[in-house]
Amino acid sequence: MHNFSYSRAGNVAEAIREKTATSGAMFIAGGTNLLDLMKIDVLTPRHLIDITHLDLNKIEDLEDGGLRLGALVTNAGTAYHPAVTTRYPLLSQAILAGASAQLRNMATDGGNLLQRTRCPYFYDLATPCNKRQPGTGCSALKGYNRDHAVLGTSDHCIATNPSDMGVALLALDARVNVSGPAGERTIPMAEFHRLPGDTPHLDHNLQADEIITSIDLPAHGFTQHYTYLKVRDRRSYAFALVSVAAALDLDGDVIREARVALGGVAHKPWRLPAAEALLVGQPARREHFGPAAAALLSGARGFGYNDFKIELAQRAVVRALSLAAHLAPES
Ligand code: SF4
Repeated sequence: MHNFSYSRAGNVAEAIREKTATSGAMFIAGGTNLLDLMKIDVLTPRHLIDITHLDLNKIEDLEDGGLRLGALVTNAGTAYHPAVTTRYPLLSQAILAGASAQLRNMATDGGNLLQRTRCPYFYDLATPCNKRQPGTGCSALKGYNRDHAVLGTSDHCIATNPSDMGVALLALDARVNVSGPAGERTIPMAEFHRLPGDTPHLDHNLQADEIITSIDLPAHGFTQHYTYLKVRDRRSYAFALVSVAAALDLDGDVIREARVALGGVAHKPWRLPAAEALLVGQPARREHFGPAAAALLSGARGFGYNDFKIELAQRAVVRALSLAAHLAPES
């Protein structure tokens, strides 16, 4: 591990000031991904700014009926908070499908959105990787790419975003509040993460000197018909091959509104409003879910070992919508 210096910020303004003024600095909160990457020299920050003492660790009601998650609330603190379990059970379910109890106790909500891909070549300094070292190439394109993306890929990177929480946040239309030298701004969850294009080293649209302060959830939490379905190689402590956050608003058995977001298939949590529109006005029955699933996967491309994901994702979407329609949330 490279040497680095350390300081602790007392408030958000101080944290931003220090980050702007210190070349090679990074924020650290839970550190559950950052420290792993530092130990193997994938990330080599010269300075760490500890933000764990910032006043960003509350969950608060919003005036519009929504809920604000402080960026430093832990994943466990969010998943088990009564306001989340009762008003946003889809989010609670998604968080609890991720990582392990120990990691969820340390990892923060802001950090969850910033975690890096688990592409094995990204973690292996002996192999080319455009995300780790731009311009060196992508070892996964013709390598062992079973876990990799089938949607939104580029010739420069086919990595997936590993977050479960992010998939539910996208389905719920969450907004990410950030603060930087230019002031505060809000980024819709749909625009927070990026596709790889020719800049795969950039995972998201947060600027280098900005900090996530909170995540806002709209009032509508889809408490009646939802599910987070995670398909993985083992039942716990494994990343998704494919995951689906599905939420329905029903009028009788007719779909009034539908949300479907996918994880494990792209460089960002994946959602397609046109696919959801195909569900509106349809009876909430299995035989009506196939066209939306096919639309969500339109344009999908496999790279050999991950070809199976295209069929798997469509089947998972149909199953998740069926579970959501029948009040049977299942992880
Ligand atoms: Fe690197 Fe992305 Fe290729 Fe993985 S898929 S080797 S992260 S460039």
